[in-house]
Amino acid sequence: MLDVYSLLKFDNPDGGVWKQGFDITYEPDEWETEPLQVFVVPHSHNDPGWVKTFDKYFTDQTQHILNNMVVKLAEDPRRKFIWSEISFFSKWWETADVYKQEAMRKLILGGQLEIVTGGWVMTDEANAHYFAMIDQLIEGHQWLERNLGIIPQSGWAVDPFGHSATMAYLLKKANLTSMLIQRVHYSIKKHFASTRSLEFMWRQAWDTGSSTDMFCHMMPFYSYDVPHTCGPDPKICCQFDFKRLPGGRINCPWKVPPKSVVEANVAERAQLLLDQYRKKSKLYRSKVLLVPLGDDFRYDKALEWDQQYTNYQKLFDYMNSQPELHVQAQFGTLTDYFNALYKAYGVPPGSRPGDFPVLSGDFFAYADREDHYWTGYYTSRPFYKSLDRVIESHLRGAEILYSLAVANARHAGMEGRYPVTDYALLVDARRSVGLFQHHDAITGTAKENVVIDYGTKLLRALIGLKRVIINAAHFLVMKNKEFYRFYQTEPFLDTDDRRATQDSLPQRTLIELDPAGPRYLVLFNPIEQERLCAVTVLVNTVRVRVLTEDGQTLPVQLSAQWSSATQMSAEVFEATFMVRLPPLGLAVFHLYDSADSHMTIRSDTLLRLSGHGVAARALDPLPVRSQPADSQTFYISSQTLTLGFSGTTGLLESIRRKDDPQEVKVQMQFMIYGTRPSKDKSGAYLFLPDGKPKPYNLKELPAVRVVEGPLFSEVVAQYQHFEQTVRIHNVPGVDGLSVDITIMVDIRDQTNKELAMRLVTNIQNGDVFYTDLNSFQIQPRRFYQKLPLQGNFYPMSSQAYIQDSHHRLTLHTAQSLGISSLESGQLEVIMDRRLMQDDNRGLGQGLKDNKKTANRFRLLLEKRSMGNMMIDSGTTSFPSMVSHATSALLNHEVLALPVLPKRRGVPPLQTFAPLKSVLPCDIHLLNLRSIQTQKDPQFPSPHTALILHRLAMDCGFEGQNLGFNCTTTRGQIIVSDLFKNLDLQLLQPMSLTLMHSSTPLANDSTISLDPMEISAFKLKLR
Ligand SMILES: [Zn+2]
Repeated sequence: MLDVYSLLKFDNPDGGVWKQGFDITYEPDEWETEPLQVFVVPHSHNDPGWVKTFDKYFTDQTQHILNNMVVKLAEDPRRKFIWSEISFFSKWWETADVYKQEAMRKLILGGQLEIVTGGWVMTDEANAHYFAMIDQLIEGHQWLERNLGIIPQSGWAVDPFGHSATMAYLLKKANLTSMLIQRVHYSIKKHFASTRSLEFMWRQAWDTGSSTDMFCHMMPFYSYDVPHTCGPDPKICCQFDFKRLPGGRINCPWKVPPKSVVEANVAERAQLLLDQYRKKSKLYRSKVLLVPLGDDFRYDKALEWDQQYTNYQKLFDYMNSQPELHVQAQFGTLTDYFNALYKAYGVPPGSRPGDFPVLSGDFFAYADREDHYWTGYYTSRPFYKSLDRVIESHLRGAEILYSLAVANARHAGMEGRYPVTDYALLVDARRSVGLFQHHDAITGTAKENVVIDYGTKLLRALIGLKRVIINAAHFLVMKNKEFYRFYQTEPFLDTDDRRATQDSLPQRTLIELDPAGPRYLVLFNPIEQERLCAVTVLVNTVRVRVLTEDGQTLPVQLSAQWSSATQMSAEVFEATFMVRLPPLGLAVFHLYDSADSHMTIRSDTLLRLSGHGVAARALDPLPVRSQPADSQTFYISSQTLTLGFSGTTGLLESIRRKDDPQEVKVQMQFMIYGTRPSKDKSGAYLFLPDGKPKPYNLKELPAVRVVEGPLFSEVVAQYQHFEQTVRIHNVPGVDGLSVDITIMVDIRDQTNKELAMRLVTNIQNGDVFYTDLNSFQIQPRRFYQKLPLQGNFYPMSSQAYIQDSHHRLTLHTAQSLGISSLESGQLEVIMDRRLMQDDNRGLGQGLKDNKKTANRFRLLLEKRSMGNMMIDSGTTSFPSMVSHATSALLNHEVLALPVLPKRRGVPPLQTFAPLKSVLPCDIHLLNLRSIQTQKDPQFPSPHTALILHRLAMDCGFEGQNLGFNCTTTRGQIIVSDLFKNLDLQLLQPMSLTLMHSSTPLANDSTISLDPMEISAFKLKLR
């Protein structure tokens, strides 16, 4: 795709009736030897929340669509339909009576209704993380298997705002054979149409063979509605949308209405339509043609079913009865179309037909017309993009701990005493997170009340997941399981934090220490490697002592909690200590209120104040110094890093690694984008800036707080619209190698402004930069002057980097945001957007519900090792091992779970370390997901899905101490050696969504993964 980008002019000449294309001509005799086969595929695009909430859509439209479907498809076996969103389908199924269910099942098994993709939703492909993309696909597919016994074969994605290669890979691994995409930049569509490349084998960029090839059909025109799917001329195609017959509620904006097909006009109507079909067919290589027939929430009235199906059947009957037309037209499902195409080329489904082209890369950024780039939604509503990822980490952690707890309970014969019913909480969370991956949810493009509905569901999921985690942790840390008693109303552990409402930031749990006795603390490490890191908890006293399980006193750095830039709390303090946690484990610590710990060291705090009040601060519970700010650069440092900060602004200026004499300029700047004065303005989808951004007005100099101590040092600079916190951890290993950055953003008093964070460095990356796709793979990008500024922005869900022959600077992110590199040496992230108007894509609202949002990052500066100058091929690139580990750290925070005080004392606890052997450090345990029973979806079966991803990495950077034993095994692992105290009773390779199984392997088999491969296995552990 990068080659295509360099080739195109990205101009926008008028293409005639097909405005963004060209004139299409054909010879009348072209179909004489091989007739045109036309498959008209009726569909209805149902958004699980957008302008209305999920439930409101279901009540108002979706249930009627599905109710009518049962009746109307049954009237004629030639009628076909496709459906994709299982969230809606399952809701309908659960409210339908057995007769309706039976009728629906008959339509599906009879091939009249095809379930396409079969995900919980049609996911967004820019902001969604691959963990969630897979999870919602599993949830949908598992529902289909349990209720209908069917397996989807074709993917259908007509509405996501740009398409990711990750989706092609996931569908391939789920054993789908073909897929369809629609929203692709109009210039790229035109180019692909002119080279007849709209159907291609989509190959992953890293694949040196063809094992990842996925057959993909790209729709050629502007939209998936009827006017843009029958052929190049919308004025004609609209006449074949029979819902728009005169007298109805909608009409054709091209001013020629449809006509009912009758004997007198059928020849003329059929000719007119066939001309469009033939022209469209000229854009593709085969003589099989796909014609979708539908739109948003279509077919909700019985009348529309009659209008479309009877008129089209008349047209088909006429066309098919005229041999000289050389056409065979019919209703079909998506797979009917694909299979006819494969048959025409004599290849099995999913194989490359003839000399069809092969393509690697992705389809971002999307523009539908002019310079209207859909790059705003990469950042829109960052609060929820962040909340989503916090919940995903909890979901993964809860799945793993629940599976381990249930397996351990079974092993101990205590299954009956464990709250296995927590499974219902997992199911609810899977579905809420799944729902949020919808292309109007995580994108931030739904109406305000719909956003609240999503937020409420997400918060409910988060609360449920925290309960699953504490219940599992309770069982797993009990030293003597005989003392284990579970009381629903009396939790053993407290949660790590709480959110008061769906739109508020979390409040960390305060651990109240008491001289009378210790408090116990359980720390959960959700990552699959041992973790050496600094952990901070809130305590109510400055007299704190932290002990490990076996009684060793840990060094503690005590620092203040700040209620404002200069005001410290007298009641709450932060205790930071360094811990070593087992992989996926739960470690136990003891906290005492004790005066005599020489291991507790108070942070040194300096307030750098500009002008206003440099006063003595006698009343502070912890010592603070203050001094007037000066323009001198000041520094903080750790054993691995030294950071320089501007004396005037308090913002980061430079990074120096201890092993590298060269200081690297990394200047943090804040910029403001405005919107255009013209009528087309930025909104939830579109980014239409009024030119280059202007520097954020730093006139009002901030109060800067510098905190230094043995375990961490940080600089906090507070501005009116954001607060920068830059922290480094003085610990060995990964946690100490990167810079922890939190930007608290609050732009609620702005109008039509977007706040950007820019990193200005002396790295000579030219116009090349790298962004991840769905946190799964890295996509090289190039800045193009020929694109408008907004066309150079890309989604970043976990990282972006720039590099030259010496250094790579990676910005890791904990939430999806839009990013670009507008000049050599720069990275620029849009942090939040406040836009007062709609941008004419159907939402009908601006973005005015901004929240106070905490955007979290880790900045990693790496040095290339000698003899390893730039090994990137230009089409692929990989993070280093340190980068992978940093991303894991940032995305999966340690959960600090205090044991609640017990009247009769706390029974003995012990650290739980589930892994028997060390996992190779390039194997990521993506999930350990308990599979539901066939009978009751609210209960777990004895089976668990183990999903592994082998990370690919760039080894050209100087080795650093990761803090854990990093070994690789060429992708080989022995699953039976993995879990301590558990017997592996089944090891069965599965397709990604567990729909296809291979022969079970011997339990002690070695399994093997290629770099980048994701594989699923069904396990029975007890
Ligand atoms: Zn949609």
